[in-house]
Amino acid sequence: MKTVAIFGSTGSIGVQTLNVVRRFPHIYKVVALSAGKNTALLKKQISEFSPDFVASETEFEADNTAFYGANSAERLAEVVDADVFVMAISGLSALPPLMQLIKKGKRIALANKDAIVCAGRVVLDACDVYGAEIVPVDSEHSAVFQCLSAGETKDVKRIILTASGGPFYAKDVNLSTVTPSQALKHPTWNMGKKISIDSATMVNKGLEIIEAYRLFGAKEVDYVIHPESVIHSMVEYADNSTVALMSYPNMELAIQYAMTYPDRMENAGVRAFDFTRSLTFGQPDEKRFPAPALAKECVRLGGTAPAIYSMADEVAVELFLKNIIKFTDICGIIEEALSINEIVSNYSYEYLLELDLKIKNYFRSKFN
Ligand code: NDP
Repeated sequence: MKTVAIFGSTGSIGVQTLNVVRRFPHIYKVVALSAGKNTALLKKQISEFSPDFVASETEFEADNTAFYGANSAERLAEVVDADVFVMAISGLSALPPLMQLIKKGKRIALANKDAIVCAGRVVLDACDVYGAEIVPVDSEHSAVFQCLSAGETKDVKRIILTASGGPFYAKDVNLSTVTPSQALKHPTWNMGKKISIDSATMVNKGLEIIEAYRLFGAKEVDYVIHPESVIHSMVEYADNSTVALMSYPNMELAIQYAMTYPDRMENAGVRAFDFTRSLTFGQPDEKRFPAPALAKECVRLGGTAPAIYSMADEVAVELFLKNIIKFTDICGIIEEALSINEIVSNYSYEYLLELDLKIKNYFRSKFN
């Protein structure tokens, strides 16, 4: 039996992780569940999975050892032990508990992107020190992770991420009038709100580009439009052969792989690909969707530039979902944050948490 602790259990990835656990009750035992504000769902999960530990932003009566409040996930991460930790808390709030989990020196199935984008060096250095193993859950990075086993890192020429394009790509839509409910409708993936908006602006691809540079130490990361989301990403090698990973889009498959790696288990909840179906690819439209190019520029600038990109986007999405700013203002906020904040090359984890607060407070008070 393997023990698993799920951080962000009430979110889209958390719920799908529990579906994986349900498929393999003889293999996985949930020992901890951590949620934010969704106490109703957390309570249901507690009664079904009987974890030893729970964490929740909101206090309620629980029979389990429980942590409450804003830093409950971090306090849970300090005490809990498991064979696999699934980190599916959204945003930079994942960073403090993630840093605690790294100290355990175990497998972390990592869905959260913000921690790697903002604090990649700090996180990956800590993994080396404590011997923790990060297996990416994000479908593109899971694909790259798998494609990299076909060759040597030194022979990798290029990582090519695929992008569905989101709900507005190649559509005759005036982006400045797009509403939150239109932007939340993703054509191929069913995800949490923040990542759905990021997919519509293509900031998500920008974050993934930065994440791929960080996680895999790649020399070059590009992306291509692939509306069917069947090829999840590719690695191009020195001899111009390209290794791709494909399956019908299904996050549970990537979550399951991160939990079982290097083994593959049957019953992943997805059928095998039908090769009579055709696949299409297209050029990115960087005029309408400048976010991935801006992310590449942040990689070039280095230091805290990727962190500023991610932090500014998080607050911009929050303001867009509250109908305070327009869809097309999101990239403008990222650009403004990059122009008014100094890009620092040597930074600590504490510096990043302060920078995050500063950027968010600045834009919240500017627009509220
Ligand atoms: P959701 O918004 O659906 O879920 C986020 C989870 O984090 C919820 O359980 C939420 O709790 C919890 N949470 C949020 N803030 C805090 C906090 N301050 N302290 C403790 N818990 C908190 O997000 P997703 O599941 O969609 O995504 C999770 C992460 O995975 C994101 O970083 C996303 O970019 C990444 N990802 C997601 C994919 C997807 O398909 N959804 C694909 C690839 C990556 P509650 O709801 O109870 O408030």
